[in-house]
Amino acid sequence: MIPTALRGVPQEVSTGVLPGWDRVEQLVQEAHDRYRDDDSGTVADYIPVLGAADPTLFGLAVVDAAGGVHDAGDALHLFSIQSISKMFVYALAIQAHGHERVRDIVGVNNTGLAFNSVMALELNGGHPMNPMVNAGAIATTALMPGETPAEKWECIREGLSAFAGRSLIMDGEVYRSEMQTNERNQALGRLLSSYERLEGDSDAIVDVYTRQCALNVTAHDLAVMGATLADGGVNPVTGERVVSAEVCRDTLAVVAASGLYERSGEWLFEIGIPAKSGVAGGIVAVSPGKGAAGAFSPRLDSAGNSVRSQLAIGYLSRALGLNLFASAPRVAVTAEGRS
Ligand code: GLU
Repeated sequence: MIPTALRGVPQEVSTGVLPGWDRVEQLVQEAHDRYRDDDSGTVADYIPVLGAADPTLFGLAVVDAAGGVHDAGDALHLFSIQSISKMFVYALAIQAHGHERVRDIVGVNNTGLAFNSVMALELNGGHPMNPMVNAGAIATTALMPGETPAEKWECIREGLSAFAGRSLIMDGEVYRSEMQTNERNQALGRLLSSYERLEGDSDAIVDVYTRQCALNVTAHDLAVMGATLADGGVNPVTGERVVSAEVCRDTLAVVAASGLYERSGEWLFEIGIPAKSGVAGGIVAVSPGKGAAGAFSPRLDSAGNSVRSQLAIGYLSRALGLNLFASAPRVAVTAEGRS
């Protein structure tokens, strides 16, 4: 197997830096101006309170791996992190249990089915397959350190706060609204239990998962959280080490493969950076070694990804050179070949 064959081979890192501060600042403002009037898409309402979000909100932020910060528009507006929490809780779970254990329990492959699919779990003998779908995220939440659900919740809240560099607080209204409509996630939790793939009381774990999704963040916070994963696990604004560099690499690989629901392949093809979206309208995108972008706007496309956030980050990926797959010949090529 590839992981075994590669054990012990040193990991060299992706190189390159962002342009200077002024240029990044200009491009962030430009990206915001360019897409602020796009009003395509619809606000999610399957969690009732989310349907009341102001669709005109649009925040954008970039934080570079040296801690330089750029905010545009409603970058400090609070919204619930939702599915974006999955990637940071996953990072904390790998930090606690190691690469192999979490890979075996949760998996890393796409299910090819919807993020909240019960069928995906049944088709795979109860194995969740992937930490970015709800079944895998609930199984990951269960792995968090702590004897009780309350201790696991505190560990998640503190861990995500360390990524953000400030104390994050749960939005009680969003939590209560989702608890009234999360029968499907409770069903996934019970199905995981029935396959003996979840320890403890599944309803209590789903409660913790619902709380983690209701943590309030801003586009600015998402950029700081992402920049921590771009900076080998050290928060570039606070200087605190949150997770190891290996954990960042593992997390970003999974996010690259499945961060944007059923459009993950299309996103990687067009934009070329690991990114995770949430149903409240947030997206975080991470360019290893360089930095991260956070964006928020509530109108979503049919796959559940914020339209303006995708456009703004797509623009920045091109303009800032974030695409992991883009290169140019290092030595100039003439008609006669390499000079
Ligand atoms: N809390 C939401 C759920 O579990 C998250 C959905 C999302 O952002 O994709 O359904």
